[in-house]
This record gives sequence, structure tokens and C-alpha cells, in this order.
Amino acid sequence: MKLTDTHAHYCDSWFTAPETPEQPYEKILDELLGEGGELEAVVNVATTPDNAVITLRQAHRWDKMYAAVGIHPTDCQLYADPVSELDRLRPMLDAARENKIVALGEIGLDYHYDDTDREKQRAVFAAQLEMAEEYDLPVILHSRDATGECVDMIRAHPHVRGVFHAYGGSVETAEELVARGWYLGLGGVITFPTAKRIRRVAAALPLDRILLETDCPYTAPEPFRGTRNHSGLISRTAEMLAELKGMAVEEIAVITSTNAGKFFSFL
Ligand SMILES: [Zn+2]
Repeated sequence: MKLTDTHAHYCDSWFTAPETPEQPYEKILDELLGEGGELEAVVNVATTPDNAVITLRQAHRWDKMYAAVGIHPTDCQLYADPVSELDRLRPMLDAARENKIVALGEIGLDYHYDDTDREKQRAVFAAQLEMAEEYDLPVILHSRDATGECVDMIRAHPHVRGVFHAYGGSVETAEELVARGWYLGLGGVITFPTAKRIRRVAAALPLDRILLETDCPYTAPEPFRGTRNHSGLISRTAEMLAELKGMAVEEIAVITSTNAGKFFSFL
């Protein structure tokens, strides 16, 4: 069974900090991505221009690891002028193929916290959608408490394709996204006992547009919730999706890995 983790953050300090008590992430990835490993590919997603450098370095270490670079909405607040920080991504994107960059991400809107600067987030999101068009790359979208506005932005950029990461919207919105050529990302949340609504939505989504993801080191699936997540735990999410679709998990693996290959055009 070969699954693809389309959304991981190995640049996160939970993985890279030297004092981390868990097994070194390099060892985990050597096993998962090595010969006979369980994974087809991993997309390693940056959240700032600073950790994008780490993300690219990591993608060079494993054949089957690819990279996405961008500024995450909640990381906009780290910079006085985040739009001008995007220029630091340009040298990386100019050599996208050599850097194994397959998408712009993680980008979007996150209105969960009241103290966030929404104007700043909107400006950075819009600028990155334009960069995606310029570099002809798909985007990895993060939306929290902002689905309506994100969908408006998607409508305003009809030439940009993307994946709606951690999809939790309605079936109707999913249908519109699919019609616009978008994909829907599902992660460990679908295994949480309380996530009944998301499971109902997941069961109704078209399988040929679903991408599986971990968002590791965060959102570990049951029964590992709260611990450091990693790409190997994606099998739990695949098993849940198989149950929801009434299919074998091996079939789910083949279909979702094929979707990921089509969407990201891995080289
Ligand atoms: Zn993420």
C-alpha cells in the first residue's frame, strides 16, 4: 500500500529541535520513503520564507519528498510588510524544478483569532494567488473561519488551481470547488469521534478529487491525538476514508496517490 502525504511540515521545530524527545524525523522518513517504505511521496509545506529554506533542504535529502513555499496567514503577523517578504521566495521559485517545488503554500486566510490583521492577510493571500499564476503552480489553501471569503478569492482567480487543505465546508461548496478544478484535502480530523459532520461531508466528496494529508506534526489521528504526528500515521486517515466509502484501504491508497500525482505533477 502506497499512500501520499500531501501536507506535512517537517520544517516545524517540533521535528527539527535538537532536544525533541521523540524519534528523529530523519529516521522515520528514511523508513517511510526508502525502499519498500509505505509512502509514495510527501509534500513538505513551508509557512514563511525562513522555513522555506529548511523545507527545500529537506526535500533534497529524500527522492520522494517535494516542497511547497509560501507565507501562512497566521505567520503574516511576523512581518511588518509581509507582501515585500514574498520577494524572498522568488529566487527559490525561479528554480522551482531544481528545488522540487510543486506548489505555493501554505497560503490563505485565518480569522480564528480576533487580534489578527485581516487586511494584511488578504493582501498576502492575493499576492500569492498572483504568484501562483505567474509561476504556473497550484496552491495549498488554508482557511479557518474564512471559507466564504476564501471561495470569493478563488472565484476571482479562475486560472489558479489548488487544494483546499483540511476541508470542512459544505458538500455544495465542495462541488463548486471541484467544478473549478480544485481538490479537497482530508486529514486526521476525520478520525476524531466528535467530527461527525466532517465525516458525513467526506463520505459525500468525489473520490477522484480527494488528497490525503497529515498536517504533521499537528492533528495526529486517533488513537494518537495530541502526540507528535508524522506521515506514517496517514494510514489511519486512509482507513477511516475507506470505511466511509465502503472500499478497501488499498483502493483508497491507489486512487488518492494517483490524484496527488495528477495534481502536483511530481517529476
Ligand atoms: Zn499546514
